[in-house]
Amino acid sequence: MSATTYKDVWNLDVFFKGGSDSPELQEHLTHTAKLIELFQARINNWTPANSPEDGKYLQELLLDFEETGKKLRQAGAFVGCLQAQNIHDEKAYNLDAQVTGLSASFQTALGALDNQLTKIDDNVWKQLLADGPLEELSFVLTERRSRAKEKLSKEEEALVNALGVDGYHSWGQLYDLIVSKIKVSLTENGEEKQLSVGQAFNKFSSSDRSLRSTVFAGWEKAWGDQADILAKTLNHLSGFRLNVYKKRGWDEVLKEPLDINRMKKETLETMWAVISENKQKLVQYLERKAKLLGLEKLSWFDLDAPYGTTETKVSYQEGAEFIQQNFALFGEKMAAFAKLAFEKQWIEAEDRPGKAPGGFCTSFPESDESRIFITYSGTPSNVSTLAHELGHGFHSYAMKGVQHLNRNYAMNVAETASTFAEMIVADASVKNAKDEDEKLALLDDKIQRTVALLMNIHARFLFETRFYEERRQGPVSVERLNQLMLDAQKEAYCETLDEYHPLFWASKLHFFITGVPFYNFPYTFGYLFSLGIYAQALQEGKGYEEKYIALLRDTASMTVEDLANKHLQVDLTKKDFWKKAVDICLADIDEFLELTEGR
Ligand SMILES: [Zn+2]
Repeated sequence: MSATTYKDVWNLDVFFKGGSDSPELQEHLTHTAKLIELFQARINNWTPANSPEDGKYLQELLLDFEETGKKLRQAGAFVGCLQAQNIHDEKAYNLDAQVTGLSASFQTALGALDNQLTKIDDNVWKQLLADGPLEELSFVLTERRSRAKEKLSKEEEALVNALGVDGYHSWGQLYDLIVSKIKVSLTENGEEKQLSVGQAFNKFSSSDRSLRSTVFAGWEKAWGDQADILAKTLNHLSGFRLNVYKKRGWDEVLKEPLDINRMKKETLETMWAVISENKQKLVQYLERKAKLLGLEKLSWFDLDAPYGTTETKVSYQEGAEFIQQNFALFGEKMAAFAKLAFEKQWIEAEDRPGKAPGGFCTSFPESDESRIFITYSGTPSNVSTLAHELGHGFHSYAMKGVQHLNRNYAMNVAETASTFAEMIVADASVKNAKDEDEKLALLDDKIQRTVALLMNIHARFLFETRFYEERRQGPVSVERLNQLMLDAQKEAYCETLDEYHPLFWASKLHFFITGVPFYNFPYTFGYLFSLGIYAQALQEGKGYEEKYIALLRDTASMTVEDLANKHLQVDLTKKDFWKKAVDICLADIDEFLELTEGR
């Protein structure tokens, strides 16, 4: 199809020449530091007069905000790429610390700015945003102002933040430290090994059940041994969060996570309701999978076990062409974007030692470009991952020309474009599978993800909501935590499993993240939201692309309900949209059940 041979390493020199030794980057950082200082000074010098003059002053401040924010992001993206491409690049770590320091100062300045906004009274505020250049930013500015208003005074919040360094956030860091010391014992071929939790976790996707089961026994024991310390950590972390909420007068534990994700509680409840009503098919899948693996019932440690095999290798070039061909079925712009990314070396895919694990896509706002990082070894799942990251890149690309302040989308819509792109390619791979075994393996991989998002994440959400309710009354014991988790898992998995993982509250990092509360439901929301859009795209064909792009451009400047209403003409607080999204997942299961009928 294409005559070009794509290189599998990225080009970073277009941003700053010379990698972590780059003098250009140092200059950029020095300049950024000055800009931040200036920005802070300008904010401090402003005394809102509650007149139209405030609008002018604010506009100028926002220009500074944009310029400085872009510079910081540009540097942060570059340094992130340096660290990923070579984990031994010590200088990159120093640069990272530099960027982190600058970001902290910038955040402090933004806090001061938000506080200034609260000093403008409501009528003047409305006039300022009514027309003119600020109108376009009215959602994000009003959001900043009302978030600041809902908090304690500037001084009190500063105190909370300061105490949080050695309080709240330290509990999260303590968790990481405890986990780093946990070893899971495993006897393999008569030899006793001590696995790190990461190594042990990887064994759960082994095809050898006795290995999975042995590792799981060691896993539960290892977490159980630390349960008292981990429970204390979780109790203090959540206690700190609840105390801050209480002082702010927030009595709903979901208030903050819902605000961050710009969504209504009603929407969240409707989503879970539709999921719960449609779990029967997931249960059928789990039962079939048990049968196929020769089991009565699956256990927790069987959920990630593979079924079927894929030995097919896809070269980087083939993968790149496959992605472009399939993107083209949905729209020309998406395909053109992918072509650009491959041709211009926006992607680091080489399989070589010294690279960081995982994949990401990062954007360089000053250049309107993105960079994608993965390690491509030629499996079909690598091709899907590459499509996923290209989807993120396309999101930024689609937002070209949108004001910087209107580009900061929340976690629940951050995966819209990536999931969409990944679905296109994953579905095409299933269709193109060379035989039934490969088709089943690919389908099973897709369904496992559905199970994770609709059942596993559901369990996390049920647990976390109930735990926080009980925590208000006082510390929650290890026994009680285990019970709450067991109940949540039984409910979320419709009692289909033989053995559960009561210590999941301890083994799952997400409950201990202090940066973002309730690090769970946005995943499920994002997945289904994207599938709902995918369902519409499948119906409408190529003509859908313009609508899709218009939606992406608005992802960071309205609530999700407004976004869906404006671009998809659907009401997220009603069940229809969610049902269509869930149906897409269930169709995979139908196919799986049909193909495995006689097996
Ligand atoms: Zn992603």
